[in-house]
Amino acid sequence: MHISSAFDSGNIEVINTDSRPIELAIRQDNNSEFYQWFHFRLEGQVGETFPLRIVNAGKAAYPEGWENYRVCASYDRQSWFRLPAEYDGSTLDFTVELEQPGIYLAYFAPFSWDRHLDLLAWAQCHERVNLETLGQTLDGRDMSLLTIGDPESAKHRVWMIARQHPGETMAEWFVEGFLETLLDDANPAARTLLEDTAFYVVPNMNPDGSVRGHLRTNAVGTNLNREWQDPSMERSPEVYLVREKMLSVGGDIFLDIHGDEALPFNFVAACEGVPGYDERHAKLEETFKRAFLAASPDFQTERGYDLDKPGEANMTVGTNWCGHQFRTLALTLEMPFKDNENLPDPIEGWSPARCQQLARDILFPIRETLKALA
Ligand SMILES: [Zn+2]
Repeated sequence: MHISSAFDSGNIEVINTDSRPIELAIRQDNNSEFYQWFHFRLEGQVGETFPLRIVNAGKAAYPEGWENYRVCASYDRQSWFRLPAEYDGSTLDFTVELEQPGIYLAYFAPFSWDRHLDLLAWAQCHERVNLETLGQTLDGRDMSLLTIGDPESAKHRVWMIARQHPGETMAEWFVEGFLETLLDDANPAARTLLEDTAFYVVPNMNPDGSVRGHLRTNAVGTNLNREWQDPSMERSPEVYLVREKMLSVGGDIFLDIHGDEALPFNFVAACEGVPGYDERHAKLEETFKRAFLAASPDFQTERGYDLDKPGEANMTVGTNWCGHQFRTLALTLEMPFKDNENLPDPIEGWSPARCQQLARDILFPIRETLKALA
């Protein structure tokens, strides 16, 4: 029996392989106390059963994330299914019965750095797309921006950023689905949108954290979604570079794509607590939500975060900073690590395919909101 995690976004520490269950621990993000993302490979005899225990689950960033959570597993690294798990308030226990010599186990279906590069390379070949490198991260990776449509003639600008929190891989699965839809020449909604709208898409806001197997921070332990008021090239070049570009081109809609560890629903959080939140903000938010509800039964508005009180928003959060700075609609979209409890999938739970479908369905609320801008 052997366990390894020395690969892209790998994260696990082996504590004891002689014990039953086998004891494992999740590594903290570098220079930070956050942890919850795990990704490793277990190798053994086909037919053998391995009980596994993550001994430090209870002290993870969001312990409530383990309640009713099922582990993501794959033999071929293409299709991911779920394994039942037990959480007792301190450890997470699950059992693997090997059907092949090796199995990959992860907090959510990984979206690899190679797949990210493939996505950029594929997109740049489309005639409507411009690929731009804004600068480099602290580990020296490129911060890439895709512009879709014609920024010169565009009447509207829409921003979409994803994976500020690198362990939230569902966010980049979502972006992949979004780009495929937007660049589908047979899609009339996409073609209509691109007639007068330019899209600015950052598929991965946190390349270093992604490759390092972090949950929430970049190479030096900075939580990027608390850097928007005062980013720096030393602590948070990712936000600094994207924010500069935002300030230079502006925008009408800002979408920040995330995953939530605990809540088993898709929902959005708006910027109702920023100074100057007004009727225009509220109208755009209402228009967006109503259209999203009409477009997708996977979206809902009953469950989500508590609303910020007027004027009490945390302005270091990307959505709040954008909504305030540009006086327009800014939303955080949260997808579940677990499943959509209103429409569960017993085999896969919330999955890459469902992220991509939700991304297809977001085109309609974007269109409706842009119409309401006029
Ligand atoms: Zn997040």
